[in-house]
Amino acid sequence: MSGKELYYIADAHFHNILAGDGPYTKRCHQWLESHTGSAKVLLTHSCTAALEMSSLLLNIQPGDEIIMPSYTFVSTANAFVLRGGVPVFVDIRPDTLNIDENLIADAITERTKAIVPVHYAGVSCEMDTILPIAKQHNIKIVEDAAQGVMSTYKGRALGSIGDLGAYSFHETKNVISGESGCILINDPSLSLQAEIIREKGTNRTQFFRGHVDKYTWQDVGSSFLPGELISAFLWAQLEVAEQITQQRIDIWNEYHRLLESLENRGLLRRPIIPDHCQHNAHMYYVLLSENLPRDEILQKMKSRGIGAIFHYIPLHSSPAGKKFGRTSGELINTDSCAERVIRLPLWIDLNFNQQQEIVIALEDAILNS
Ligand SMILES: *Cc1c(COP(=O)(O)O)cnc(C)c1O
Repeated sequence: MSGKELYYIADAHFHNILAGDGPYTKRCHQWLESHTGSAKVLLTHSCTAALEMSSLLLNIQPGDEIIMPSYTFVSTANAFVLRGGVPVFVDIRPDTLNIDENLIADAITERTKAIVPVHYAGVSCEMDTILPIAKQHNIKIVEDAAQGVMSTYKGRALGSIGDLGAYSFHETKNVISGESGCILINDPSLSLQAEIIREKGTNRTQFFRGHVDKYTWQDVGSSFLPGELISAFLWAQLEVAEQITQQRIDIWNEYHRLLESLENRGLLRRPIIPDHCQHNAHMYYVLLSENLPRDEILQKMKSRGIGAIFHYIPLHSSPAGKKFGRTSGELINTDSCAERVIRLPLWIDLNFNQQQEIVIALEDAILNS
């Protein structure tokens, strides 16, 4: 917590402004627009909701194909499957664990409507390769930047580079409000439609701006906007987003230093950050060397009170992924990384002594497994 969350919530309550798009929501919108350079940012209930809005905005129809990694959270795919879209899973790069941009062209068919680069751990995908592919084939780009707030690619904010982008402010992310997220609308021709979709399919947002004298049902839509209490909480976090990021980076760097010797001894691999990517220290993960028993290692750490975890059952091998999606090529890196990854605890109050303890526990667990 930044310390001001409850104060701003009380303030919103005091002024009796509880529905969405009040003063705190507007402040968050302005902050996000000025910090990302995106033409328009709108808060949503979650990053999942922002991805669902993207799917509606791109008018995804049954059978349309959407290219994405399999190594991601379910919402990346689900948002499009809800509209009848077919996720087409492509392998990841072994260094950043992001979608392998050189495999995307092979996955394109007549039905491809969008590419969804997921910026894993807040480290950017290779957007300079992906953008021209999308342009050449007239395909849209929706950046799943759920983990990417405050990260940049060659100086540009993640989420602001494709046609659309999505952030998450879920409590497991860097900047939080419990649940919420936002959609970044970088293609201004989609702005008005985004407002309509988010406001139950009505032009209520235009009405409040005084652009129309009554508001009516315009198109399909839903309710994607959070109430003011959530925005008030989020505002307290955005105000200190830079400090949060810096503190996380300090912790991340300390892990990186402490784990160097384990990497040199061939026990694991540390994250790789390309020089042109400024990351936000969303996650510190390690990839165990092959054939090490991850479950046993995690269990040993747990018995010492350390909540290290693994994640992503690859979507192509999950029940819904098999039912709704298909793969393009072999997903060798996806399968391998998903079996070897361990996420270490990372939050801003973690201290260096605790980090040392965590790394010792990891080392002991590896050596004794
Ligand atoms: C967290 C996350 C989401 C979902 O975010 P919510 O705000 O919880 O809906 C989507 N994609 C990725 C890659 C995520 O990490």
